[in-house]
Amino acid sequence: MPRDWRTTGTGTSCTRRRRHHSEDLSRGKESTPVELCVGDAGTRPSEFRYRKDRWPHGCFLSRGPALFRVCCDCTDGCSDAKHCACVAMTTGGRGYSHQRLLEPVPLYECGPWCGCVRSRCQNRLVQRGLRVRLQVFQTEDRGWGVRCRDDLDRGTFVCIYAGERSLKRGAEMEEVCFIDANKEGNVSRFINHNCKPNLFIQNVFTDSHDPAFPVIAFFTSRVVKSGTELTWDYAADAYADPGQKQEVPCLCGSSDCRHVVLKRVRLPNCASPVKQLQVLEVKD
Ligand SMILES: [Zn+2]
Ligand SMILES: [Zn+2]
Ligand SMILES: [Zn+2]
Repeated sequence: MPRDWRTTGTGTSCTRRRRHHSEDLSRGKESTPVELCVGDAGTRPSEFRYRKDRWPHGCFLSRGPALFRVCCDCTDGCSDAKHCACVAMTTGGRGYSHQRLLEPVPLYECGPWCGCVRSRCQNRLVQRGLRVRLQVFQTEDRGWGVRCRDDLDRGTFVCIYAGERSLKRGAEMEEVCFIDANKEGNVSRFINHNCKPNLFIQNVFTDSHDPAFPVIAFFTSRVVKSGTELTWDYAADAYADPGQKQEVPCLCGSSDCRHVVLKRVRLPNCASPVKQLQVLEVKD
């Protein structure tokens, strides 16, 4: 019977009843603390280094004109593709709408060299970091999970998939890009799989406009009530190689769910020819 993680009217009871047993998982690295509900017996996730960004940053990976293909100097808030060259980079100029991403589209945010008025710029969201209050807790049957502590609108940015990026050669000698969160990562490494998820992932370009180096960001696909576990469909948002697609089992609700490892997944709508991203499942 769950005791400490039941949803109450305004949130979850972890902090209320076990205040001494909650702490900031990010140890101050995130702009909004990530609450960790330590288990009854003092159980906690296995050790890892909290990193709020994916590493290396785009500026170390990408050189030359691909780094930032355009800049702008808008004074009207960077919300209109007709005026803002950065917003126009996003397909059809469909970018954020009032700080929400309502449909999946690779998104190009304003960069460090844009002269736009930052406090008014509507085209910077993911780069501003974690704003949603999140809580890492022990699920009944799927290890650690993540839930939100506020009601979230559809299209709300939740967090990025942080980790260390590495390139490896695949079986056919093609380059395969990994983001590995086993040793270093952020709160997203605890997000569980579900075949009816409330999150989707989207490539967002914040520290480079190079299509090869997106930041992987999670957004809500519907309204999510406070206290609800946040989940992502590992299989739906990524394209597996045709030959491997059936090897991605849907095990949601099963105790084996945490052991799914996706192989060679490619992000949706990605323009790059070398765009295979493998999300390595974190086991704890
Ligand atoms: Zn602009
Ligand atoms: Zn700009
Ligand atoms: Zn801007």
